[in-house]
Amino acid sequence: MAQSQGVRPTAVRAHAYTIPTDRPEADGTFAWDATTLVVVEIDAGGATGLGYTYTHGCIAGLITGTLAGIVQTVDAMDVPTAWAALRRAVRNMGAEGLAASAIAAIDVALWDLKAKLLGLPLALLLGRVRDHVPIYGSGGFTTYSDAELRAQLDGWVARDGCAWVKMKIGTHPAQDPHRVAVAREAVGTRGLFVDANGACDASAALRLAEIFSRESGVTWFEEPVSSDDLAGLRRVRARAPAGMEIAAGEYAYRPGSVRRMLEAGAVDVQQADATRCLGITGFLRAAALCEAHGTDLSAHCAPALHLHACCAAPRLRHLEWFHDHVRIEQMLFDGAPVPRDGAIRPDLSRPGLGLALRRQDAERYRA
Ligand SMILES: [Mg+2]
Repeated sequence: MAQSQGVRPTAVRAHAYTIPTDRPEADGTFAWDATTLVVVEIDAGGATGLGYTYTHGCIAGLITGTLAGIVQTVDAMDVPTAWAALRRAVRNMGAEGLAASAIAAIDVALWDLKAKLLGLPLALLLGRVRDHVPIYGSGGFTTYSDAELRAQLDGWVARDGCAWVKMKIGTHPAQDPHRVAVAREAVGTRGLFVDANGACDASAALRLAEIFSRESGVTWFEEPVSSDDLAGLRRVRARAPAGMEIAAGEYAYRPGSVRRMLEAGAVDVQQADATRCLGITGFLRAAALCEAHGTDLSAHCAPALHLHACCAAPRLRHLEWFHDHVRIEQMLFDGAPVPRDGAIRPDLSRPGLGLALRRQDAERYRA
C-alpha cells in the first residue's frame, strides 16, 4: 500500500462576500436583507481546495490566523487529524457558532483539496450510497405577498420538479393559516412543509399544527419551538397530528448536539448543516448518529456544498434547496448544481466538489 509522503498545506486564504437578497426576507424569529459567504482556499501539492460557510465575515481573521497555523502543520490527506486539532484549538474561545463555522469551511476545503490531489470527485472519495440527491424548494419568507409566495413555490414544482416545498411561518401567526392555504393551492398534491424557526411555544405550535394539518395537509413542522427546548420539541412531536413530522437540527454546531437531540426523541427527522456542524467530517458523523438511532437525516441549506456528502449519507432523505443559497451559489460558483426531476447530481467529470469561484463576479461583493 502506498504511504502518504505528507502533503503540507502551504497557504490558507479566506475572503468574505456580502450579497444583498433579491427582496426583503424574514422568518419567524429573524429578518435580513443580505447574506455573507466566507470562502476558504487551501493550497497544497499544486492543487487548491475550496470550502465555504454562511456566517459573519469576522471569521476570516480567525481562519487565516490561528487556524491556518494549525492546518499548515497537518498532512492534507489526513483531514480528520486536522479536524481534531482545529477543534482543540477553539475550545477556550467558544467551540460553537463562529468558530465551528470557521472549522467547517476549512474542513470542506481540505476534503475538496484531498479529492483534487487524488483526481476524484468528492462523492467517489467518500463512497456513494446514491447517485442523486432529492431536493425540496425552501423559502416562502413571511415578507412575501401571496402572489410572490405562490410564484416561488410554483417555480420549484413546475421548473425544478420538487416533490416538496417549505415556507416560513411564525412572524404573524394569525395570518399563517391563510398563507399556508395559499401555498397548498400553489403546489397541488406536492408535500408542503412549514418552518417556524423556533417562534412558537409548544401550545401555540400544537394549535397551528392542527390547523395546518386539517386545512392544508402539512406533513413537516420544522422548529415549532426553539431547538434549545428539547422537551418542548418532544412534546410537540408526541401530540402533533398523525402524518406530521417534527424536524430540527440546523443549529447543531457539533456531533454531540445532534446526539443529544436524537437521544431526547425530539425529532422525526434530524437536520444537519455541514457549514455549521464542522464541515464534511462533522456532517458524516451526524449521518452516522442518525443511522445508529434509526432516524432519517435532512441536509440544511448550502446545496452545492452538501451534494457530494449527501451521496454518502446512508439515511439521507433530502437536501434543502434554499432560495438565498441557491441564488448565491449559481451566481458565484461555476459547477453549481442544476435540478432535474426534483434532484441534483454530482458532476463526476470534475474533481473535488466540482466548484470554482467566479472571482470577478464575486469581487463586487467583497466585504
Ligand atoms: Mg429551518
